[in-house]
Parts: sequence; C-alpha cells; structure tokens
Amino acid sequence: MRMSNMYMPTLREVPAEAEIPSHQLLLRAGMMRKLVSGVYSYLPLGYRVIRKIENIVREEMDRQGAQELLMSAIQPKELWEESGRWSTFGPEMFRLKDRNDREFCLGPTHEEYFTSLIKDEVKSYKQLPLNLYQIQTKYRDEKRPRFGVIRAREFIMKDAYSFDKDEEGMRESYRKMWEAYDRVFTRLKLKFRVVEGDSGAMGGSSSHEFIAMAETGEGVIAYCEACDYAATNEKAKVVYNIESDEAERELERVHTPNVTTIDELQEFFNIEKNRFGKALVYIAKGDPVVVIIPGDRELNETKLINYLGIPEHELVMADENIIEEITNAKKGFTGPIGLKDGVRLIVDSRITRMKNIIVGGNETDYHIKNANYGRDFKGEIAEDLLLVEEGDICPKCGAPLKMDRGIEVGNIFQLGTKYSSSLNAKFLDEDGKEKPFIMGSYGIGVSRTVAAIVEQYHDENGIIWPLVVAPYHVIITVVNSNNEEQSQLGEKLYSELINEGIEVMLDDRNERAGVKFNDRDLIGIPIRITVGKKAGENIVEYSLRKDNEKIEISADKVLEKVKEEFKKEGLKL
Ligand SMILES: [Zn+2]
Repeated sequence: MRMSNMYMPTLREVPAEAEIPSHQLLLRAGMMRKLVSGVYSYLPLGYRVIRKIENIVREEMDRQGAQELLMSAIQPKELWEESGRWSTFGPEMFRLKDRNDREFCLGPTHEEYFTSLIKDEVKSYKQLPLNLYQIQTKYRDEKRPRFGVIRAREFIMKDAYSFDKDEEGMRESYRKMWEAYDRVFTRLKLKFRVVEGDSGAMGGSSSHEFIAMAETGEGVIAYCEACDYAATNEKAKVVYNIESDEAERELERVHTPNVTTIDELQEFFNIEKNRFGKALVYIAKGDPVVVIIPGDRELNETKLINYLGIPEHELVMADENIIEEITNAKKGFTGPIGLKDGVRLIVDSRITRMKNIIVGGNETDYHIKNANYGRDFKGEIAEDLLLVEEGDICPKCGAPLKMDRGIEVGNIFQLGTKYSSSLNAKFLDEDGKEKPFIMGSYGIGVSRTVAAIVEQYHDENGIIWPLVVAPYHVIITVVNSNNEEQSQLGEKLYSELINEGIEVMLDDRNERAGVKFNDRDLIGIPIRITVGKKAGENIVEYSLRKDNEKIEISADKVLEKVKEEFKKEGLKL
C-alpha cells in the first residue's frame, strides 16, 4: 500500500477521552474512531489487525472440530423469555421494536438462539457432540463504557456453543476449547493467565477466564505461586481464619459523635479493625438488606449477588434516606442489633466466630461494644462474602496469594442444562430416552484483544505490533521522495517484497523525514526499511520496531532479512 494514497488519519494530540495507552494509541495511529460513547469504527489499519486475529481464532476453532456459521444480531423477545433472561439481563440489553410493535434485542450473547436453532434439527445422540461458532458483532449497553474497545457497547466477539450427550462429553468439549484458546493467545504473543471465573449471568457450574496481563486492566486476579490456584477477585474464595475463645462480655452503648468510618472508629476505640462488624446497606430487588462483615475487610458484591440469587442490576447501595428509614439513625451507625422488623440481615460466617465486636448502634452517634452473634443478634449466615486481598491464604495450599491485573480476553463456561432445559431442547439417547443437551459456551473478545495486544506492546512513541497481527509486515520509508534514486530504489524494493507475498507499506508521501519517522513509530509496523542518502550505492537501513537497532545492508539482502525475521517469529510466508 502506498501511503500517499492511504486513509490513515493519525493524530498529534492525545484525545482527552482516552485514559490508557491502547485507547490513546489506537486513536492516534488512525486505527479506530469513536462514533458515540462505547461505539467505534475500525479504520483500514485497525481492521487489518482485527481480521488477522479473527483468522487465527478461526484456525484454532476449526482445528478442534468447531464449525463456523453466522447468526443474526437481532433476536426476538420470546426466545429470551423462555430462558428467563429478558428480565434478568436488565438495562445492559439493547432493546428495540419493529413496526408491528414486536420486541427484539440486539444480541448481547447467543445461548438462547443457538439452543433454539439446533433443538428441532438435532434429534439423536449420534449427531453429537456438536460445536458451532460465529464471529459477530455483540451489543451490551454498558453503564460506563470506557477504555475504548475494552469496555465498549458494540464489540466483535467469537462465541461458540457446544452440545454433548453427557457430562463427560461436555468436559471434553470444554477441554478442547481451553486448548484452542491457549493456542490462540499464545500465537497472538499475549502474556496471559487462565483463572477460575464467576459464572454470573451465564449460569452453569464452572468457568475460566483468559486474562491478558496489563496494569491498566479492569480485571483483578488472585494467584498462588506455590500451586496453580488462580481466580478472578470476584470468584476467589477467601480463607480468613478467625476464632476467639474470649468470654462474652456485657453489651455497652458508647457515645461516638460523628465517628462513622472504620478508620475513625479504629482511632476512637484504639483497637484493631478486625474487632469491628462493618455494616453495608443495599437494596436487593427493591428490599433493604443489611450485610455485616469483619471491619478490616471489603465486601465482594458478586458473592452477595450470587448469595441473593438476583441479577446484578437488582443490587444497589441504599441511599442515606433509606438507611435512616430502616435504622432510625444516620449513615455510619448501622448495626445488626435493633434493625426495623422485616429488614433482612445477612452476616458473613466469620462474624459468627468473632467475640465482643463493636457494631453500629442503629442510633445516631452511638456504637455498641461487646456484641456477640447468637446472644445479641441473629441473621442469615453466608459462608463467604469477602473480597480477596494480597496476602490472603491460598484456598488450595495455604501459601500467601498474590494479586495482579489484566484484561479478560476469553472465557469458557460449563453450562450444563441451564438453557437446554428452559428451552426444551432434547435429543434421544442410546436407550431411546429424551434428554436435554449438556452445553458449554465459549467467548473471545476479538476487538478487545486488539487493545490487550497494544497494552502489552507499545512504548512512548507508539504501538509495537507483533509480526503475526501487524497491519502490514514491512514499511519502506523513502526519506526524500523528491530524490530520484531514493524513489526508484523504494519502488523496486516495494515490488520485490509484494511479489513474495509480504504485506508492505511504502511511505512515498511528500512529507518531511521527521513526520515519516514519527508516523512509522506510531503505527508500529514491525520491520522497517529506510531508503536514504546511500540509495545511489544500493544501501538501505534495516531495523525492527521492537529494538530499533539500525544496520546498513545492501538492498539486495532486504528480502533475505525479511524472510529471516518471519522464520524467527515462527511464521510462514
Ligand atoms: Zn496455592
């Protein structure tokens, strides 16, 4: 491609909306543009990267025997009512009506659709296992779209669905997808970890997430170096051993004017944070819920949502008015003793093993000392509602856990019969008996993966594409386009490389050399040929974007050098 004729609108300035490197660089390098919040278009350079990722995904899915098809993004409401997700998906679902007032959504995912597709046509165990996938645009009306294509409202996703006759088959389908994902992200040169995930809105029994490591990532993971335990912070089980054999002391009301936060309370009472019972007030599906956890810990909202068995959007923090209404006290003085009748009280199981804790008094400016579960208050006991922290004990081996951050680029779910049962999708087994399909679903965020690669491969000057996904393999920079010798040599190399199937950009623009070099760094083409002053001697400069080490070589050696680089990267030409 000749850059003189290329649609590549680069930007000098960092767009104000862009907070993290991938977002900034993909905009600056002219690879994508925003239409409205969370909705992006992919310009020619960016779209070439997308297509390369898609092709790697295709190759690895096909290798495992999955078959590609393409479904509609528009799905009728009835389908989602059958699974119950028309209401549970909540405001994240884009909904629309046709001219006859029939309701539809823009698919946020396709479990229902795939299940209904095969249910009338796959009738026998002999037709199983089956794994179908598509690469398609998905829609989720995110509350807070951010980080460009990482948390977008419209995004490209590969989604696959497996159908098996039994649990064992499903586990094998799951293993195959795990292997496919492992190969995809390895080929894409991403540094990633596979961690246990929360099944959340998908339902089902087991799930894993593929996390591309990045400091800027929204995904937080806990992992153990002593064993292979790794989980998202939403999922990670918290081992928090607290036992007390203290004698139960008498309750004591303490005047604590304006002392509301755990930090203030710690200072006021001069006692460790783990001697407090921290209260949090939520509205769950319209009803108030008070949750009590140890004062030194944070609540894991995902665990609370799972405990309550409600959709995510049905849990909201209670505002001050509601807190006053149910406790008769201002915010900061909520506790488990003396709540209004009918208020649901949920305690983390650790609270039941603590003695003589300090809790809010449900009276403004008062706390209560020496509260004990069982004697002074009772509630529903939830096994574990805590958010994991660095240094917590590994639930598998007992070593201290470490924390890291990343971007979720893939997920795999064992769904079981959640969708086949609700949608009545059955087949006949070996004994002629009707059984629901055992399903799995598997996603890769294709557009998000582009951003994850940029997060891992960039420097202060721009993107550093790995050769395997680079929009073009080679860029030839003609330093002075008005110089006949330079132009001619540039053109000669350009044709020579293209004829070998190499993807080449030729910077033949009538621009200053500095502009050309800056753009070259910004868009991050891996292999660079600079045709400058020594063109007359048939000598060019060869360098790689990743290390910037420049060497002079004969123009006759260029093709050989490029081929060498392909070999080093394990790529075929
Ligand atoms: Zn461990």
